[in-house]
Amino acid sequence: MIEAGPDKASHWQVAINAPLRCTFTYRADDSLQVGPGQSVKVPFGPKNREVTGLVVEANTEECKKFEPKDIIAVAPERPALAPTQLKWLRWLSNYYVYPLGQIQQLVYPPLKKHSQRKSRKEPVVPDVQPVAPHPLTDEQKAVIAQIELGQKGTYLLHGVTGSGKTEVYIEIISEVLEKGQTALVLVPEISLTPQLVRRFAERFSGEIAVIHSHLTEREKTDQWWQVMDGKKRLLIGARSAMFCPMPNLGVIVVDEEHETSFKQEEKLKYNARDAAVVKANMENCPIILGSATPSLESWHNAQEGKYKLLTMKERVQSRPMPIVEIINPRQDRDPHGELPYWLSQTLYNKLKSNYEAGHQAALFLNRRGIAPNVQCYDCGFSYQCPNCDISLTLHGKHHLVCHYCNYHDRMSEECPECKEGEPKAYGLGTEAVENDIRKLFPEAKVMRADRDEISSREAIEDMVQKMESNEVHFLVGTQMIAKGLDFKNLSLVGIVHADVAFNVPDFRANERSFQLCTQVSGRAGRHQTQGEVIIQTYKTNHASLLAAQNHSYEQFVGQEMEHRQLFQYPPFGKVTAIRISGIREHEVIEEGQALVRFLQGLTQEFEALKASKIMGPTPAPLSKIKNRYRYHILIKAENHKVINLIASRAEDFIKAHCKRTKCLIDVDPYSLI
Ligand code: ADP
Ligand code: ZN
Repeated sequence: MIEAGPDKASHWQVAINAPLRCTFTYRADDSLQVGPGQSVKVPFGPKNREVTGLVVEANTEECKKFEPKDIIAVAPERPALAPTQLKWLRWLSNYYVYPLGQIQQLVYPPLKKHSQRKSRKEPVVPDVQPVAPHPLTDEQKAVIAQIELGQKGTYLLHGVTGSGKTEVYIEIISEVLEKGQTALVLVPEISLTPQLVRRFAERFSGEIAVIHSHLTEREKTDQWWQVMDGKKRLLIGARSAMFCPMPNLGVIVVDEEHETSFKQEEKLKYNARDAAVVKANMENCPIILGSATPSLESWHNAQEGKYKLLTMKERVQSRPMPIVEIINPRQDRDPHGELPYWLSQTLYNKLKSNYEAGHQAALFLNRRGIAPNVQCYDCGFSYQCPNCDISLTLHGKHHLVCHYCNYHDRMSEECPECKEGEPKAYGLGTEAVENDIRKLFPEAKVMRADRDEISSREAIEDMVQKMESNEVHFLVGTQMIAKGLDFKNLSLVGIVHADVAFNVPDFRANERSFQLCTQVSGRAGRHQTQGEVIIQTYKTNHASLLAAQNHSYEQFVGQEMEHRQLFQYPPFGKVTAIRISGIREHEVIEEGQALVRFLQGLTQEFEALKASKIMGPTPAPLSKIKNRYRYHILIKAENHKVINLIASRAEDFIKAHCKRTKCLIDVDPYSLI
C-alpha cells in the first residue's frame, strides 16, 4: 500500500449517493477545486461505477490502509454549498437516520440549466397588476413590531382564520427584500393555489419563484436557477422547496405549520416545518410558523419559551367568526323521508336559503367516490382488494377501485359469493354527495373538487376562477377545499360527516379533526356576509367538535395536552416508528421480533435508555398494501437523543440481519396507518 503525500493531493471524506451512512475517503488532484460542500463525481464499488458524492470534510487521518481512489471531477452545474447549508444537511442525515449522499440529491434540480425546450405557454407565476398594501390592523402592527429581523428566532403566529396572517408575512418579507436579503415561504402543496401566489405577486411582482410538484422538470429547473442566480429573491414552495440552497436568507415563513403534508412519507421522512426551524437557526434568520390551529408540538415549544408566541384574535375589519352548529343527521330527519339519508333537515334548509339568497356553499367530505364499501345484504360479502387489506371504493355506477394500488373491478348485479343477494353501496363519498345535490337543486351549478376531478394546476386554477366569478353555486370537495381558499361570496359550509376524521387509529386523530373543522369553517363568510357552518356527526358531544364550534383553540389544547401527557405521546415524549413489510407474513413477523429483541436488550443494557419503550411488532391498521404485509415497531422515549441512539443501532441491525423484509425508520412519524 502506498501512502499518498498530502503535498501532491489532498484527501476528503465524501458522502456517496448510495444507501450508506458512512463517508468514504477520496483523493483530489490539485487541479480540482474541491472543498466541503462541493458535489463531485467519484468511482464507487468494485466496478468503479461513477456516482455523485458530497464532499463533507477534509480527511485528517495520517495513515491509510488503502490507497484512496481519485475524485473524477467536480459535478457540473452544482454550486458548492455554504458551510451553514452543509451543516443543515448533516443535521438532517443524523436526525432522520438517512444517508447524506442521498439527501444531497434533493438539493439540485432535475435537468441541465439551459435547454432549447420551451416551457409551457402559461407562466409559472401569474402576471398581475401591482396592488397597494392595506393599512395594517392594530393586531397586525403589534405582531410585526415583535419580529426581530437580522437574527435568529422562532415565532409561532397563532391567528384565527381571516385575521390577516398572510398580510403579516408580506410586510415582513418586504422589509427583508428591502435589506437586499432573500425570503422563503413554505406552504402545504394543497394550498399552493394560484390565489395565494397571486397575493404575493401583487406585492412583489418580478421577484417570485415558485417550486411545487405540479411543475414540469424544466420549469422546476428554471425556477431553481432563477433563485440561485439572484434573479428572484422570494421563493414560494411546497416542502421540497426548502432544499434550494438560496443565498443570503433573511426570513423563512411556514404557513399552516400544523399541516401533516409537511411530513414527507417516503425516502427521507422529514418534517419540513421542523427542518425549516433548524435551517433558519443555522442561517441565523427568523422563522415564522403561522396557523389558526397550531400543532401541539409547536404550542408546547411556545409554552416552554423555545418559540415566541404571537397572537391575533380578531378577523380583520371586525368581520365576525362563522356561526357553527353541530347536528346529528339521524335526529334531524326530514319528516317526509325525501332527503338523502346523509343530509339533515337543518343543513338542507340552510343550503336552500343560502342558494336563494345568491350565495355560494361548500360541502366537505374527506372521501372520494360514491361509496367506500360495496356489500351483499344477504351473505355479508364485501368487495375487497386482492392486493391490499381494504375494501374497494365504488365510483360511478359499477366501477370499483382500490385507492391504494389502483386495482379495478366491476360491480356485478348479483353477489359473486352467494349468487342470490344484490351488492349495495355503503357509506358515502364526494361523488354521491355531488349527485344528490344535483338532484335537489337541478338548476344550480355544482362542482366537485377532489383528486378524481382535479389533478393539475390548470384544473385548480379553473376551479378557483369559476368560484370567483360565481359560476358555481355548490362546491363539493375533499381536503382540497379545506385550506387557504378565500372566496368573497362563500357564506355556508357543511361538513357532511365529521366522524371520518376522528375514527382513525392514530393519537393525532382528535387534533386532526379539530384542525380540519376549524380550517373548513374558516372558509365561510370571510368578507361581507356572516358565515355559517353546519357540522354533521353521529357524535355531537365530541370534544374536538365542541372546541371548533366555540372557535376556541385554548379549549381544545387544554383537554388534548392532558391526554397526550397521560400516554407520553408527543409533545411530551418522542416517538419513532419502524415499518417492516414483506411478501411473506411469517418473515415479517420473525425479523420484526428479532429486531425488537435486539432493541429491548439495548434498552436494558444502557442506563440512559431504560425509560424508553419498544413496542411491537404489531400489524399496521392497513395490514396489507400492494401484496406486502405491514407491521410496525414503535419506539417511545423521553427525548430525541435517546431515540436517535436507538434508531442508529436499529439501522445497523437491520442492515446486518433483516434481509428478507424492508425495514424503514420513520422519526417523528405522522401516519401510523
Ligand atoms: P389569514 O391568512 O389569517 O386567514 P388573510 O391574510 O388571508 O388571513 O386575510 C383575510 C382577508 O382579509 C384577505 O382577503 C385579506 O386581503 C384581507 N386583509 C388582510 N389584512 C387586511 C387589512 N389590514 N385591512 C383590510 N383587509 C385585510
Ligand atoms: Zn389494492
